[in-house]
Amino acid sequence: MTNTDEHTQDKPRAKRPREQRPQEFYDQIKERFAAERDARLSYRPPGTEQYIEMAGEFADYEKDPYADQSVERESITDTVEVLLIGGGFSALLTSARLREVGVESIRIVERGADVGGTWYWNRYPGIACDVVSYDYLPLLDEMGYVPSRHYAGGSEILEHCKAIARKYDLYDLAVFKTTVTSTIWDGEEEMWNIETDRGDSIKAKFVICANGTLAKPKLAKIAGMGTFAGKSFHTSRWDYEYTGEDLSNLADKRVAIIGTGASAVQIIPNLGTSAKEVYVFQRTPSSIDVRDDWETDQEWAKSVKPGWQARRRARFLKSMGGGGFVYGGARPEGLCREEKIRAQENANIDAMMRIHRRIDEVVEDPETAESLKPWYMLMCKRPCFHNDYLPTFNLPNVHLIDTKGEGVTQINEKGPVFHEKTYEVDLIIYATGFEVQQTGIYNKIVGEHDVDLNEKYDEGIRTLFGIHSHGFPNLFVMGGYQAPFQFNLTDMLQTQGEHIAGCIDYVRTHGYQSMDPTPEMEQWWVDQVIEHRGKTSRNQDCTPGYYNFEGESNRRQDGNYNGGMVAYIEHMAKVREEKMTEAFDFTTQ
Ligand code: NDP
Repeated sequence: MTNTDEHTQDKPRAKRPREQRPQEFYDQIKERFAAERDARLSYRPPGTEQYIEMAGEFADYEKDPYADQSVERESITDTVEVLLIGGGFSALLTSARLREVGVESIRIVERGADVGGTWYWNRYPGIACDVVSYDYLPLLDEMGYVPSRHYAGGSEILEHCKAIARKYDLYDLAVFKTTVTSTIWDGEEEMWNIETDRGDSIKAKFVICANGTLAKPKLAKIAGMGTFAGKSFHTSRWDYEYTGEDLSNLADKRVAIIGTGASAVQIIPNLGTSAKEVYVFQRTPSSIDVRDDWETDQEWAKSVKPGWQARRRARFLKSMGGGGFVYGGARPEGLCREEKIRAQENANIDAMMRIHRRIDEVVEDPETAESLKPWYMLMCKRPCFHNDYLPTFNLPNVHLIDTKGEGVTQINEKGPVFHEKTYEVDLIIYATGFEVQQTGIYNKIVGEHDVDLNEKYDEGIRTLFGIHSHGFPNLFVMGGYQAPFQFNLTDMLQTQGEHIAGCIDYVRTHGYQSMDPTPEMEQWWVDQVIEHRGKTSRNQDCTPGYYNFEGESNRRQDGNYNGGMVAYIEHMAKVREEKMTEAFDFTTQ
């Protein structure tokens, strides 16, 4: 490789010297972390019970504001080779690989009115990726595309998704504004029967659940929320008709936003400069680090050689080694287990204290600054990167309502209530997140012997690689549990897409009808997941959030594979290259 190198866009970060502090300092901070976590656990209903689905009286919150939902079409009754449930990154990445191995009959069934998934639904002001675009956007080599910025905006990512669908002819068979309601295995025909809410009855040889990891929006369960007389919506269903495209309609509006996760962090600066008054209801602050964003140097963009994104990825994976994440430059080689844990924890705390210092430097009001400080280990919650979020709290119209872990528990017809004070507003924005890694949301999946996949999972999730599950032949799950949860999710989805396309290619070229993982291989993977979970108590020590199942203890197998991305890739490659007949039962046509 010459020096038209992809690294030239990644500005080197200065190495920060480790700070020398007595162990007592770190122990005290850990005590504060524990107290903050316990306070939060004491306030909220257990686990996911604190959230409610957008159903019944709240069903309207889920309506698509970007498309006319009422458009009628004829029901479809036909057969395709591969059906993908969902049209986001998972579907696009996998379809591209399927096209490369010659699969012609591919149908995407998608709830939105276009492809894009997350990037279709999330169009709130300020939306952008916060994983570097050159790594995050899929198929840049294949598309011959270089993103316009280090962190691309949402509309650019959505356009990129559409371009992928056009390049790989995925619009030909796709159906939009359509929800798969049941996916049932026909053991005699050895085909899947898929039914939708549009009356479609489709047969497919292979089904890929590409329904996303954070696809189904949820609302905080707050007493009286149905009584609010003003306007309200969820961040993933932004109502631009109400706010105006440029938010100018908010100039005379008082706005409350509930939640301060990654979505809210990108939205709040835009509300601050547009709305008359902004009330930010915070339960737990996010960690806000510097966002190194810049426009892509067009000379560099023109100079990159084919395969540049793949080389970046390979270099990244190599740098990960075993896949472990080391905080703040701790180098724990040669230490015993306890020393290693301590070194990593102390480095993590140093990183968090740097985040605290930045808050003190930027936020003028000391009380607000104190409230914005996150008291948990970095990576207990998703880290956020933004340069305008903290300064927004210096604006006179922006008010932080720090509920200190308690959260908003009541809303009346005028607005949110906290400690008996009503905050009168015109608009409430729910920045309350999404259901996490649900397989077959909206959809009932029934495999061999009438076994329902979610009922099987009720006894403990059982998969091979988080993708295959015994008794569900030719069914592939993407982005679910028992696979690694990567900060750059695209990387993980690409790995899974390549594996799935490899499996489908194997079945086709060998003249098989179906593949089903053996119970032994499934057990092996469940054991792998269990072996790599809970090496330390860090998960339970964390403040509650979706990263740690809202603080609920769960079965050791009901989570992600923590053995590292590199090991995951190697395990899958080994099975595909050497052990297909050991790992799967095949039937012939
Ligand atoms: P999150 O689940 O991260 O945040 C939900 C927020 O709602 C939390 O701050 C939570 O508080 C708060 N909350 C819940 N109930 C209440 C209540 N009763 N009162 C007050 N606050 C409450 O959702 P997001 O939509 O922000 O983010 C979801 C994920 O989407 C991100 O973590 C990220 O993976 C992805 N994302 C990625 C982006 C990107 O790449 N640029 C941008 C946006 C999102 P608490 O923390 O106490 O639970």
